[in-house]
Amino acid sequence: MADDYQMPKGELMAGKRGIVTGVANHQSIAWGIACQLAAQGAEMAFLHLPGMERRVQPLAESIGVKVVAPMDVTDDASVDAAFSSVKQAFETIDFFVHAIAFANRDELKGSFVDNTTRQGFLRAMDISAFSFVDCARRAAAMMPETGGSIITLTYMGSERAIPNYNTMGVAKAALEAASRYAARDLGPKGIRVNALSPGAMKTLSLAGISGGRAMLAKGRGLSAMKADTSMEGVAGAALWLLSDLGKSTTGELVHVDAGFHIMGFTEDEEEA
Ligand code: NAD
Repeated sequence: MADDYQMPKGELMAGKRGIVTGVANHQSIAWGIACQLAAQGAEMAFLHLPGMERRVQPLAESIGVKVVAPMDVTDDASVDAAFSSVKQAFETIDFFVHAIAFANRDELKGSFVDNTTRQGFLRAMDISAFSFVDCARRAAAMMPETGGSIITLTYMGSERAIPNYNTMGVAKAALEAASRYAARDLGPKGIRVNALSPGAMKTLSLAGISGGRAMLAKGRGLSAMKADTSMEGVAGAALWLLSDLGKSTTGELVHVDAGFHIMGFTEDEEEA
């Protein structure tokens, strides 16, 4: 599976250990990032949503990840147990990847104003934004005096109103603000916190959004490069931020979307 991607090999992560969350299958962004980190010598633990063992275990084994444990971020006991199992295996960690998001399908379509419920809003916020704060605190507590690096995954639906992204856009805006506050708190400890904002990619999460395919096609068509966002590009940006290459970068929101976020209108629209 790791060979699906052309991830540059090297030693940028040699001697570093960390946690990767959010691997659900071979299309997960977390999986692409994990493949790149493994190719650069990182040792990892995977914390996955309970019930995903059958899919996650073989992926983990294929890149030499030995620590694999369930973690439901809505359940404190589950998060406690997951972090304990990592502590037993690794005394300290150098990096943490947060790649977790969820909103009810009904909230990811049509009118934001009409379709957003209290329960759905809070659930999206809990899983997609609060879980980052909770995990960042626990991960930072496991990092050595020399510091560490934390990244989260967001999407431009936080900055602009994208059709159907709705509640998730609001949760991503909270997540991005949380990453800046965490960067401020943890900076003096040498811990860097950054958010990566890929363009639309074909994953399970995208399939949950009404018109997900259109998000892919529009993202490509409206991007500066007229190209899809590649897993290699996202994983490369993660490697930069998680390795010592990213030494002086923190509190940053890095778009990896083939230039989707910089565009005003297209040439077609200009002519109209
Ligand atoms: P994915 O479905 O593969 O990953 C989402 C992960 O969240 C899954 O592994 C799922 O098990 C996990 N998760 C959901 N609820 C959880 C819970 N209660 N406890 C623990 N884990 C839980 O899809 P993905 O696209 O790889 O998503 C990863 C991240 O990237 C998400 O934050 C997503 O919003 C973000 N992102 C995705 C895209 C895209 O187009 N696919 C674009 C930009 C950002």
